[in-house]
Amino acid sequence: MFIGAHPDDADIHFAGTAILLKELGHEIIFTSITDGSAGHQTMGREELAKRRLAETQEVAKFLGIRYIVMDAIDSELTADLSTRKKLIKLIREVKPDVIISPRPNDYHPDHRAAGQLVQDSSFLLTVPLCCPDVPRLEKNPYIFYNQDIFTKPNSFTPDIIVNITSVIDKKMESLSLHVSQVFEWLPFIYPITEAIPQDKKGQIEFCKRNWGNRGGALRFLPLLNDPDAKYAETLERCEYGSKVTPDIAKELFPFATINFS
Ligand SMILES: [Zn+2]
Repeated sequence: MFIGAHPDDADIHFAGTAILLKELGHEIIFTSITDGSAGHQTMGREELAKRRLAETQEVAKFLGIRYIVMDAIDSELTADLSTRKKLIKLIREVKPDVIISPRPNDYHPDHRAAGQLVQDSSFLLTVPLCCPDVPRLEKNPYIFYNQDIFTKPNSFTPDIIVNITSVIDKKMESLSLHVSQVFEWLPFIYPITEAIPQDKKGQIEFCKRNWGNRGGALRFLPLLNDPDAKYAETLERCEYGSKVTPDIAKELFPFATINFS
């Protein structure tokens, strides 16, 4: 279960690993805590939220996963009590073995809040008197952070490195289904000045060029010790979930390079 702030955060940071997990028979759930209603230069919030929800469902169909979009307002997410309770209930219903989220240090306030909300929910998932209308989890999930480039107060640690080269085209084709983002909003806000390709192959290459190194994942490629590895995704253990030993990490991600120090 990936828990991000926006519809496309999971796709950008984790879809390669998700595809590999899915191939092993695991159930994958992408979650956006906000409705994605702030990410466009011409559309209004209501219309945009509907469009982005539809885009997530296209991704869900394409990857064979479930994509949940919650109702917090995009650009206004805070780690408040009512959102925390909604998230606790959702996680308890889903009962994930593993949660992936951003670290609570990031350039975007919604990403920071999403990371904080996952941390704030983690222990309470097991406390019966917290949100008593949904049964508690007996065990905390394993929790990991997706990779990022931020260095203060400390840099991301690549505990788990996944070679996603074999599935990069599928990852990028999936990302390209967020049309309102990768071909409209993000080129506007970054900005990206190159022309948007009209054919599918060109669009996949466009996505690779612009999001293939999101979170600086490629700086960890040498740790894979594989000269053919061109794309990677990495995870860091969060200390607030169940303890991840090297054996457990290998069981959860059998295709990954485990880099615990
Ligand atoms: Zn985002």
